[in-house]
Amino acid sequence: MQHTASAMHRDRDLLTRLDSAIGDGDHGANMARGFTAVQAGLARSGPVPSAPVAAPDDTDAPGEILLRAGNCLVSVVGGASGPLFGGAFRALGEALGSFPEVDARRFAAGLTAALAKIQQLGAAVPGDKTMIDAYAPAVGAFRAAAESGAAFATAAHAAAEAAEAGMRKTVPLQARKGRAAYLGLRSIGHQDPGATSTAAIFRSLAEASGP
Ligand code: ADP
Ligand code: MG
Ligand code: MG
Repeated sequence: MQHTASAMHRDRDLLTRLDSAIGDGDHGANMARGFTAVQAGLARSGPVPSAPVAAPDDTDAPGEILLRAGNCLVSVVGGASGPLFGGAFRALGEALGSFPEVDARRFAAGLTAALAKIQQLGAAVPGDKTMIDAYAPAVGAFRAAAESGAAFATAAHAAAEAAEAGMRKTVPLQARKGRAAYLGLRSIGHQDPGATSTAAIFRSLAEASGP
């Protein structure tokens, strides 16, 4: 989560620029604000988001940390991305539960639940030019690697590559979901902001999990 928070602060201007072209220009601010709340919620310091967030301790399982992070995102990020990313982190956390350690296969199952949650909430399918266009290939790549017995970091790097490829493929698509859909054909030729933040999230997972 710390790696992801750093990435969201680093990419804030890029996400703002992308969302200014085909949305309302707030995606950078939304993600930065959301992950500032995640950092505060997980660090027991700084401004506490509106929803009560229990203080973590050393015994916190990965699933519990992810669930808490998801709650922070849902409570402080307005707009489409808050409930969608928040719901995804919550679903991942719930799937991982309180197991003290997470291997690639268990994480793959959690990512599958997270993707299903985004699609249940937002009803987007691949090709609609949304975060799904990065998230779905990332989950597919992570699963394939995990099923073939790869280590966690290997699966995470495969997921990051797939997310970045999916992100780039949103450029020629016409948006069919979210604010960008109102632009119709004028959404073509721009990279989707949510697919871009999704790729950064999977890249930060890979970086955090090792070479
Ligand atoms: P808003 O559009 O409400 O201002 P953000 O700018 O934070 O919210 O997020 C925009 C991103 O959310 C889009 O680039 C897209 O990737 C994603 N998005 C929007 N609607 C959906 C949806 N129905 N399903 C999946 N992702 C969506
Ligand atoms: Mg926006
Ligand atoms: Mg908005």
